[in-house]
Amino acid sequence: FLPHLVASLERVDQTYIMVKPDGVQRGLVGEIISRFEKKGFKLTGLKLTQCSKDLAEEHYKDLKGKSFFPGLIEYITSGPVVCMAWEGVGVVASARKLIGVTNPLEAEPGSIRGDLAIQKGRNVIHGSDSPESGKREVALWFKEGELVDWEPALASWLIE
Ligand code: GDP
Ligand code: MG
Repeated sequence: FLPHLVASLERVDQTYIMVKPDGVQRGLVGEIISRFEKKGFKLTGLKLTQCSKDLAEEHYKDLKGKSFFPGLIEYITSGPVVCMAWEGVGVVASARKLIGVTNPLEAEPGSIRGDLAIQKGRNVIHGSDSPESGKREVALWFKEGELVDWEPALASWLIE
């Protein structure tokens, strides 16, 4: 199970989650936010935006050179996306489980991609792959004043 993330399972981290343009067009924003909310994580940033080619290329810079890269940039910039920052214990690994693996064909039923998508090139959602990426991506997509630190009233009912 996500072996590279095991060390972070007990730490408070942040992750960058994004409903991709297909998810917005298909009206899945509420459903997707709801899954993270119900899990119990803390939302610290949320906005709708249409991103520039530069931002998309910076976000996916590790994939530059892949054959699907140009198509990926076209896809991500093709319409509005919903950007979110979520915080919590083990949030990066948990979010990856909620999202499911990259290829929706292989994603478990019950996961977002397993339930709501068909192909890798239209897999409705992004989630950071490590605590370091989480930090980098939250900082890349949000300005400081757009993030809110707040005390959820239910915290003690979620974390022992
Ligand atoms: P993720 O972390 O699960 O989103 O997957 P990656 O970081 O490996 O890839 C980023 C995104 O690029 C994926 O979510 C897909 O939308 C897209 N992608 C990855 N591999 C492929 C591929 O083989 N074909 C196509 N069309 N898109 C891909
Ligand atoms: Mg990735």
